[in-house]
Amino acid sequence: MAKKKKFKRKKIFLLLFILFVIIISIYIINLVNSNNYKLKKIGYNEEEIIEIVKDKDLTDYLLKHEYDELYLKIVNTKDYKFKNIDKYINYYKNNSNAPLNDIVYIINNDINKEYSENLISILKHKYFIKDRLDRYLNYLNKKTDIDDVIRDVNSNLDYEFYTNTKKTDLSKDYLLIVNKYYYLDEDYQNSNLVTMESNYTKVSGAKLEKKTYEAFKKLSDDARSQGYYILNNSAYRSYDTQNNLYNNYKAQNGLIWADSYSARPGHSEHQTGLALDVASASTTLTTFENTKEFIWMKENSYKYGFILRYPKGKEYITGYNYEAWHYRYVGEEVAKFIYENDLTFEEYYAYYVEKNS
Ligand SMILES: [Zn+2]
Repeated sequence: MAKKKKFKRKKIFLLLFILFVIIISIYIINLVNSNNYKLKKIGYNEEEIIEIVKDKDLTDYLLKHEYDELYLKIVNTKDYKFKNIDKYINYYKNNSNAPLNDIVYIINNDINKEYSENLISILKHKYFIKDRLDRYLNYLNKKTDIDDVIRDVNSNLDYEFYTNTKKTDLSKDYLLIVNKYYYLDEDYQNSNLVTMESNYTKVSGAKLEKKTYEAFKKLSDDARSQGYYILNNSAYRSYDTQNNLYNNYKAQNGLIWADSYSARPGHSEHQTGLALDVASASTTLTTFENTKEFIWMKENSYKYGFILRYPKGKEYITGYNYEAWHYRYVGEEVAKFIYENDLTFEEYYAYYVEKNS
């Protein structure tokens, strides 16, 4: 009886032992197969492994690659994205002078250019437009200040005036641009032209686009109620009218003079019906600047949706000499923004109209 009991106990003990060995074996097999163990074998330390295994994609990726501290450095950059990891590494191989944060920025923005500090400054500029990257980089041969480079290229100044011209996008309505790069067709005429009433214009029969005219009337009425007389001196001009005007200027004063004071046909804002030259009751265009009316216009015209289109100090961007008399309707909201940010319409158009289309 006692013998039998002893044997039974031995048997249980043996079974337990076998079970123990099985459990230990499973544990060891699991351990050897675990990512932690494999990462450790590749060369990562405990701390690194804790971070790595939080990300399954990254873990799988690193298990397939030899140890390289570059991986973890990249992973620790602010904007790292796992899907780009191979691209970061490739870029680094060809541009090992580039800071990793910059590499991540360049790749995340899908830029394929050799690294330079200028490149990064351009990419991070407030007014950077991706389509124009090559032009900015080329323009660095002409100017070094990045603000200048961005502003000039956005205003197309990397091209000579009247080169690389294109037909303006009429779908922009009140924000369409007409200048030395963008033109209107010979037969373009705004379909909403209205004839101005005589108490708003010094030239009888002058025409403006309807909404532009409504805004101008309001401006003129309000100014008048405060004692300022602001009248139209030249509004809509057809292609043919502009053609004659420009050719007369050219015949009288030469090409350079004509180009800085007058637009070539198709390139005049007056053809849009959205622009006009103003004068006070007793002045001509060129003396308007010295009037109290001009000061009033400078301070108030934006409230009615008009901008001083060719401002002083911006001749280089607009391509025109300063014109105290020429105003363009763009709507109240945009006029206010342009006024407050001291932009030319060229700059505004590149960044806020064209870029987002
Ligand atoms: Zn004008």
